[in-house]
Amino acid sequence: MVKAYYEKDADLKALKGKKITVVGYGSQGRAQSMNLRDSGMDVTIGLREKGKSWTKAQSDGFKPMGVREACEKADVIMVLIPDEVQSEVYKSEIAPALKPGKTLDFGHGFNIHFKRITPPDGVDIVMVAPKSPGPKVRSTYEEGFGTPSLVAVEKDYSGKAWDVVMALAKGIGATRAGVIKTTFKEETETDNFGEQAVLCGGITGLIGEAFKILISEGYQPEIAYFEVLHEMKLIVDLIQNGGFENMWNAVSNTAEYGGRTRGSRIIDQHVVNNMREVLKEVQNGNFADEWMNEYHKGIPNLSKMRSDSQKETLEQVGKELRSMFVKK
Ligand code: NAD
Ligand code: MG
Repeated sequence: MVKAYYEKDADLKALKGKKITVVGYGSQGRAQSMNLRDSGMDVTIGLREKGKSWTKAQSDGFKPMGVREACEKADVIMVLIPDEVQSEVYKSEIAPALKPGKTLDFGHGFNIHFKRITPPDGVDIVMVAPKSPGPKVRSTYEEGFGTPSLVAVEKDYSGKAWDVVMALAKGIGATRAGVIKTTFKEETETDNFGEQAVLCGGITGLIGEAFKILISEGYQPEIAYFEVLHEMKLIVDLIQNGGFENMWNAVSNTAEYGGRTRGSRIIDQHVVNNMREVLKEVQNGNFADEWMNEYHKGIPNLSKMRSDSQKETLEQVGKELRSMFVKK
C-alpha cells in the first residue's frame, strides 16, 4: 500500500516567519488562502489590479497587491491561476521576482512538467494538488476536516522543500484527510488522462450518446434524462463510498446481471484502444501543445463547442426537469 501522510507528519514550523503569496483568487486561490490564513500563516494575494477577484479578496479581509509586487515580498509563491495563463503571467510578473531560496508551489503539474515554466536554479518547486474543487477545499476545512491531496517536490535546492510542501498541505487542511506523494509527471499525466477518458470526456460522451439513442427511438426525453443522467450521481456515490461491489450490492439483481454482462460490450476493445491513444497524446505532450495552441488562437474551437452544447436537447430538458423537482 502507498504511504499516506497525516497531521503528525507535517509541521507548520517550516513556514514560520515566511511570507506566502497566493497568485490568483479563484476556485483554489480563495480556498487555499483562507485556509492558510486560518492556520495562522502570513498570506498576501497577488492579482491584476482592480479586477473582480481584487474586490472579492478585499471583502474577505485580504489586502491584495499587484502580482509582481506580491511575489517580490514572498518566500513562498503559490501559482493558483488557470493553467493556460500561467506561463505568460510567470514570464512577465513572477520570474522577475524570483530569487534563490524562494519556493514556487503549483496546484497542478502541467506547466512545470511540460516545461512551459522553467524556473531558475536555486528556486524550490513543489505541488499541493487538492483532489476536489476549491469551494469544497474551503468548506471541509471549515467543518474541521480537509481534502485529500497529492504532494510533490520537483526541485529541492534548499533541502527543505519536503518540509515546506507538507506544511502547506497542513495549512490548507489536507493532512487532516491525508496526502499521498507523487511526482509532477505522474500527477499531470494521470490527471489529464482521467479527466479526458472518464471524469469529463468519457462520462459526457456516454451519457450524451445514450440519451440521443433513447429519444431517437421515441422515448420521452424527460424519461431518458432520468435514466441516463440523473441517476448517475447516485451510482457514483455508491462506487465512491465502497467500490464497485458496494454498487452491485445496492442495485437490483436485474441491474447487476445486465450491467455485468453488457458493460464490457459497451466499453469494448475499440474503446480501450482509444483510451490508450488519448493517454499517449498526453504523455508525448501533443495534447498540451494542442491545448496551448488553441488558447493562443483565442479558444475558437472551445467557444464553438461551448455554444453548440448549450443548444442540445439534453441541456434544455435538464434545465426544465431540474426546475420541476426542486423543493417548493
Ligand atoms: P481559476 O480559474 O478559478 O482562477 C481564477 C483566478 O485567476 C482569478 O482570481 C483570476 O483573476 C486569476 N487570473 C486569471 N487570469 C489571470 C492573469 N492573466 N493574471 C493574473 N491573474 C489571473 O483557477 P483554478 O481552477 O482555481 O485553478 C488554479 C490551479 O489549481 C490550476 O493549476 C488548476 O489546475 C489547479 N487545480 C484546480 C482545481 C479546481 O478545483 N478548480 C483542482 C485541483 C487543482
Ligand atoms: Mg484532477
